[in-house]
Amino acid sequence: MNDEQQPQTRAIRGQMQQTAYREHSTPLFLTSSFTFPTAEAMADTFAGQGEGIIYSRYNNPSVDELIAKACALEGMEAGFATASGMGAVFASLAALVEQGDHILATRAVFGSTHQILTQILPKWGVTFTYVEPDAPDDWAAAVRPETKLFVTETPSNPGLRLVDLERAGTFCRTHGLTYIVDNCFATPHLQRPGDYGADLVTHSATKWMDGQGRVLGGLLLGTSEVMERVIFFCRHTGPAMSPFNAWVISKSLETLHIRMDAHCRSALEMATWLGEQRGVARVHYPFLKSHPQYALARRQMRAGGGIVTFELEGGVAAASGLLNAVQLCSRSSNLGDTRTILTHPATTTHSKLTPEEREAVGISDGLVRMSVGLEAVADLQADLLRGL
Ligand SMILES: *Cc1c(COP(=O)(O)O)cnc(C)c1O
Repeated sequence: MNDEQQPQTRAIRGQMQQTAYREHSTPLFLTSSFTFPTAEAMADTFAGQGEGIIYSRYNNPSVDELIAKACALEGMEAGFATASGMGAVFASLAALVEQGDHILATRAVFGSTHQILTQILPKWGVTFTYVEPDAPDDWAAAVRPETKLFVTETPSNPGLRLVDLERAGTFCRTHGLTYIVDNCFATPHLQRPGDYGADLVTHSATKWMDGQGRVLGGLLLGTSEVMERVIFFCRHTGPAMSPFNAWVISKSLETLHIRMDAHCRSALEMATWLGEQRGVARVHYPFLKSHPQYALARRQMRAGGGIVTFELEGGVAAASGLLNAVQLCSRSSNLGDTRTILTHPATTTHSKLTPEEREAVGISDGLVRMSVGLEAVADLQADLLRGL
């Protein structure tokens, strides 16, 4: 790939080498293993010297193409693709900690990440502490001699709280912590944590990267140093992405920049409009001036992202009423699709949290999360008016 080109060009033109057929669109390599011309070539490859590919749990041309493009977009050196976003999040943590280690995480992390921190890693003697995403001055007090990782997500799901990526980078360097960012909500088109010193970025490629609600996928992208340990862990524990899913997502990356620009434009329009509707108590969107971290959002993000959340005055009843009234928007728990999706976090994605835990991450009973799709904004507004 050409390092001089802009990321969007590399996402379009960074395809694998043509085969003997000189195809224009990339072929799909549905094969579990690969062959070798000689026993010696096979032995060399197993010894880490040959050019060959061994087995699709390790490498596959369709998957490698996706990883190369994603590395170009994030400005990272190496990567691994997993079957889902959670496969990536789990591998990022499990590969980099040992018994007795401690993790610092910003409080507003994805629901299943919270389950890994609270239910799974403690089984192996790994502990964690939550710090507030928007209070970086307090983070240092939570660092212990055994703290190894700083794990964060910005903007958070569904609270849309931001973490100052530059401050976090300085903090991690000062305390010698490995800096991990779940960049799912922003995508590398809107922000690149690696530019602020992040060692490792994780993605649920299921969301905006595929962007059409078709396949699950996860990505781990980082410095060569950190990825060496992560790739070793993944090769031997087996979370690899299917070549088919990689082929789908790699194609999707060709349009990531135009899709994200359009999602963000519509989301800002919807957020502004929602703020003027009766029954809507509050609207949260990073690029609204009313967002408490608006200045930070403008500094570190190209645009506000495709997610808008809003609080309805009537609590659970009002939120259920809206979700039942819409005819165009989908009731689903996914996000990052061409189709607009409404979710009621308190009764679905975050129902396992106690009311106090929900309160702490800003999920009130009347909160609705809207993943703004690519339909005409006027049609979305007309649909929401059925239930507002
Ligand atoms: C969806 C999501 C995940 C998990 O990804 P899957 O592909 O569903 O496994 C992780 N982090 C964030 C921020 C997400 O939105």
